[in-house]
This record gives sequence, structure tokens and C-alpha cells, in this order.
Amino acid sequence: MKIRNKIDNSRRKTPWDDNASLTATQKFIKIKYEENYCFKHPNLLLTKEFELLNSIKIDECRRCGTKSIRKKGFSRNNVQRYYCNECERHFEPTTNTIFEEHKISITEWIEFLLDLFNYGSTSLVSKVNKNCINTSRYWLTKTFLVLKDYQQSILLKGTVYVDEFYYKVIQSKIITKDGKQLRGLSKKQFCIGLGYDKENIIAILEGVGKPSENKTKLAFIDYIKTNSKLIHDEEKSHKVLIDELNLTDESYNSNDLKKLDDKNNPLQPINHICDLLRKFLNSHSGFDRDNLQDYLNLFCFMHNGYKSNLERIDKLLNIVLNKKVRLKYREMFKKRDND
Ligand SMILES: [Zn+2]
Repeated sequence: MKIRNKIDNSRRKTPWDDNASLTATQKFIKIKYEENYCFKHPNLLLTKEFELLNSIKIDECRRCGTKSIRKKGFSRNNVQRYYCNECERHFEPTTNTIFEEHKISITEWIEFLLDLFNYGSTSLVSKVNKNCINTSRYWLTKTFLVLKDYQQSILLKGTVYVDEFYYKVIQSKIITKDGKQLRGLSKKQFCIGLGYDKENIIAILEGVGKPSENKTKLAFIDYIKTNSKLIHDEEKSHKVLIDELNLTDESYNSNDLKKLDDKNNPLQPINHICDLLRKFLNSHSGFDRDNLQDYLNLFCFMHNGYKSNLERIDKLLNIVLNKKVRLKYREMFKKRDND
């Protein structure tokens, strides 16, 4: 509990909060710091979030789904409140979305996402936004929940590049049931199936160690359109995709390609995605590997579909405001404390 209190300590504080006689420099630093804090944590009324929230069409109860509802006043942040005649409870447009219990505002969430999409780590992002690290982790977890099924909407087609990407398992986890360390490099790495058709990326965790036909099939089969053209290295397990999806293919020996520069390397498009993914995962280097697939979903969302991050955020915001995903701040950290 000691650690939690320490990190829950608000970034708003300065060393001089209880001190009446400050020097000129202390006073100046304190005022500037507080101004900046207020800028990063705007008042919900000033951001006019209520205008956005009140524009959402509400025709059923956010709790029980019945249509028997009526408007019932406004919250202190000027958000329209509703009353459900069926479950006899109040609700707001954000009830049962990730914006319930405003730990930070939508305005701050947009800033958070912009930093995240620019490969900022959770700890860096929380410093930049003057949030405590738990708030950033909480928001990251919420973002993960929203993106859980995101990749299911992707179907690669035309010319499709695939490759296996390996990422290190955290040292302390490389222990077998009888307490011994696992031997062999391949066993210490997660294998991630990467696919790319120059429009969209898919990234699916296959497990620890080398790929097999079965793992390759599970990872890719639902994400590549039949009759596409596969461009890949000579990984044998890819054969199952060629057979089952009736793909044509072009395969290259990785050792031969090492002599070529990027411009002439036919696998350069997928190599580039591998480089980006490594950079992204390394920017979150200490992350819990149990969340690896969540990070992969986020990585794909960050690169697919749109040219600009603002368009991406617009899409995400629309998903969020209409998706039932709830995660209570206290529940999340209670779970962590019990781990
Ligand atoms: Zn209801």
C-alpha cells in the first residue's frame, strides 16, 4: 500500500504548498507550474464537453436497454441526465462507457492518445500530461478494452506480405514448472505473426517459440482474403495458408536478401513494419507481457486506415461513446494489489 500512496500522490503538488513565505523564484515557479497544471487539467465546464455529450442521441437506457426513459435535469457539469422508468435509475450519456467516472476528461484523453500514437511510453505520457502514472495506466487499459476486437474487422488482400516477428520474454518469466530456466533462444521469445498489404497491418501473438503450421493457420487464416498473392521468406509453416486460401506466392531466402539494400529488397515493406513494431514495443519496454496482444491491437490501430492521428482519434471517440465497456478505477487497482 505504501507504493500506491506514493504514486497516487498528485502531480499538482509543489514543495511550497504549506509555506507562506516564499522567495521570488519559488513563487514564480509555483505559479507557472500551477498554471500549466490547470491548462493540462481543464475544468469540464470550460472544455464544453457537455456540448459533445449532449449531442449524442439517447433513445434507450444505458443500463438496461429499455426505451422507456425521460430527460431528468442536468449534472453539475451541464450534462443531460436521464431517468429510466424500467430500472428506476438515473443515467448520463457516458454511463456504461469508458467515460463513466471522469478520472480524466475527454479533452485530456485526446492529449493522452496523441502522445501514445507518437510512441510515448505510459510513464512519459503521464509526466507530460501531469497525471499520476496510475491514471495513464488506467486510460491505457481502457483504450485496450475498446480495441479488443479491432483486428477482427481487417481483411488483407491483393499483395500480402507476412513474416514472423520475435520479441523477448521478460527474464523473470523464463522459468519452467520445476523452477529451471528454459534453454534455447527460440523459447525465450514471443512469436508474433505480422501481415501487411500496404494498407493495413495485422499483428497476432502466436505464442512462445518457433511457428508451426497450426499456429500460422490460427494467426492468419481469418485475416487474408482467398486468392491473394503472398510475399514472404521461406518459412515452411506458411504453406498451410497457400493451400487453404488458394494463394499464389513469391518466397525469398532471407540470407540472399541480406546482401541487398532496402530499396531492392522485395521484403522491405514487411521489414519496415517489423522495425516500427520493435520501436513501438521498446517504447513500452517494461510492459506486462500478459498484455502483449493488447499492445499489438493498439499498434495496428495506430497505423491502419487513416493518414492523420486526429482522424484516428475521431474514429476511436465515436466507438467509445457508443460502446458498452466499463472498467472502474478502483476495481482495476484492487485487482493489481491482489496479484
Ligand atoms: Zn434502465
